[in-house]
Amino acid sequence: MVANWKMNNTLGQSVVLAQEISNRFNSGYEDKVDVVICPPYIGIKPVKTVFDFDKCKISLGAQNVFYEKSGAYTGEISVEMLSELGCMYCIVGHSERREYFGETNNDVNRKAKALISGKIKPIICVGESLYVRENADPQAFVLAQIDAAFAGMDAFEAKECCIAYEPVWAIGTGRTATPEVAGEMCRSIRVKIAELFGDDIASNMRILYGGSVNVGNIDALIAQEDIDGALIGNASLQADSFASLFKACL
Ligand code: PEP
Repeated sequence: MVANWKMNNTLGQSVVLAQEISNRFNSGYEDKVDVVICPPYIGIKPVKTVFDFDKCKISLGAQNVFYEKSGAYTGEISVEMLSELGCMYCIVGHSERREYFGETNNDVNRKAKALISGKIKPIICVGESLYVRENADPQAFVLAQIDAAFAGMDAFEAKECCIAYEPVWAIGTGRTATPEVAGEMCRSIRVKIAELFGDDIASNMRILYGGSVNVGNIDALIAQEDIDGALIGNASLQADSFASLFKACL
């Protein structure tokens, strides 16, 4: 279960929320479900401090990264910097980054490769727009994003990645893909990964669904054979709702 806090929570709010999540996680969910929290950059270290103090095994992730090692890239952050903060994961290619910040498939590929060489696991986001869903071939669109994101990787690199299928029309809209639609796309993604890197890598790869996941729909989504977890925006901003989502994984 991956929480994407997006541009929410001040430092103080982040620490309070982390403490509330840690309390819930440490009351019976340790070692049972893998949970990752992706705060804004400034929250990564303080949230990690809360988890470390509590011996809470929730991992930290970032929401973005730049692929260059260092230099004159105002406003950007490097893999090494994220690593120093204790990040184990990083989201790449989120639809909001693609839409508002012009992130391309090529950027996603370069970011994913840079993360892997810095020993951070990329969570590669793919997903079609409403226009593509209604007027074109969503599966072909998403599989082309997969092809581009994994271009030039070998199996050792690919096995470090997770994928999040997030239909753009379902993100933050309250409109969830049906479990069948989400499950079918995740199945196609797994088949594609098997074609590219073999059955072993494909069957072990975590494929998540994201898009208006909440306590009312998580059970049906997670019951789909090819959905291994969820990437959660809104419902991760409140400890009880987020806890009910990771509890649903058991
Ligand atoms: C997301 O930000 O990746 C996301 C899925 O958001 P929400 O759960 O709010 O739709």
